[in-house]
Amino acid sequence: MSKSYFSQRINDWHQQHGRKTLPWQLDKSLYKTWVSEVMLQQTQVATVIPYFNQFMRSFPTISYLANAPIDEVLHHWTGLGYYARARNLHKAAQMIRDKYDGQFPEEFDDVLALPGIGRSTAGAILSLTLNKHFSILDGNVKRVLTRHQKIEGWTGEKKVETQLWTLADKLTPAKDTQIFNQAMMDMGAMICTRSKPKCDQCPVAEDCLALADNCMTSYPTPKAKKKIPVKTAVMLVLKNSQHTIQLIQRPPTGIWGGLWCFPEFIDKESAVASLKEQGIGEYQATELSTFRHTFSHYHFDISPILIEFSQQDSNQIMEQHGQLWYNLQHPQKVGLAAATKKILSSVNKITHKE
Ligand code: SF4
Repeated sequence: MSKSYFSQRINDWHQQHGRKTLPWQLDKSLYKTWVSEVMLQQTQVATVIPYFNQFMRSFPTISYLANAPIDEVLHHWTGLGYYARARNLHKAAQMIRDKYDGQFPEEFDDVLALPGIGRSTAGAILSLTLNKHFSILDGNVKRVLTRHQKIEGWTGEKKVETQLWTLADKLTPAKDTQIFNQAMMDMGAMICTRSKPKCDQCPVAEDCLALADNCMTSYPTPKAKKKIPVKTAVMLVLKNSQHTIQLIQRPPTGIWGGLWCFPEFIDKESAVASLKEQGIGEYQATELSTFRHTFSHYHFDISPILIEFSQQDSNQIMEQHGQLWYNLQHPQKVGLAAATKKILSSVNKITHKE
C-alpha cells in the first residue's frame, strides 16, 4: 500500500465530508486544541461541545485556568467523568503559567512532559494546530488501522501498539498532516464505526483487508478475557416449620467476610450426611436451580438444596454460636451475602406458591 495513495484518499474524503466547524476548529489555538483533545479522550464529540464552550467562557486563557480554584475547574467537569483529566489540565496550566509564561509550548517533548498528555495527544495538539508532522493513535485511528491492515492482538499490548505506531508514522504525510490526522479521527468516528461500519462510504475500502474478508467488527481484537477457575458448592437451606431459615456467619476475612450465608458443602452427599449429624431425620428436600456468582478471581457455581423439616427436629441445633434463624416474615437486619439474598428470594417464591 503506497503511503501517499492512502493519505491522498483520506484527505480527499475529508475535503468533502470531514468535520471542519467544531468549536475548537474555529479560530484555532494550542490551548483550545489541548482542552478539546483532553475532553475527547473518553467522551463523544456531541457531549463535549457544550462543555467545551462553557469551559472557554469561564477560562478563556491558560492563565485564567491556572489561577482558578481546582473546585471551580472540577465543577465545569461535572458530568464528563474521569476527573483526573480535569485535575491534570489544571496542574498543567499552572506549569505552563510558571514555566512558559502562560504560552502553550510548541516543542513535542515539552508538550509530552505536561501532566495528562501522552504521545497521541501531544501529536494531535501540535499537528492539528500548527500542522507539525506528528502521527496520532487514538481509539478511532487504531480502529481504522487495525481493520484496514487486519492487525491482530489487543491494541493495549506493547507489541501491537508499537506495530500501530510504526504504521501510523509510515502513513502520516509530512504535508497536510493537520488534515490527515483530523480526517483519520473523523473516519473512525463517522465511517469506520465500532459496530456497522459504513464501508460503502469509506475512501480506503478498496484495499481494506478486513472488508475483503468480511470480518470488520472482529478488529480491533478485544482484550482477552482472563480465564478464571470455576468452583462449585452445595448450600443447605434449612427451613423449619416456623418459617425460619438457618444462616451461618462467615469468617471476618475472605469472601463475603462477616456476612451471613448458608452452610456450604463440597457435594450433595456430604450435605445430606450433615443433616444426620444435626439430628434432622425427617425432611423434605427440594433442589433449587444452580446459579453462578462471579468473583474477580473465580466463578462460583452454587447448588442450593431446600430442606424443610419439623420444629421438633431443629431443637438441638438452635443454640450454636455464629448461627442465626432468619425469620422470613420478619427479617432481622443482618448483612446478607449476595448469594444468600438470591437464594432467600427463591425460597420466598416457593413459600408463597404454597
Ligand atoms: S472499509 Fe470498512 S472496515 Fe475497512 S477501513 Fe473502511 S470503514 Fe473501516
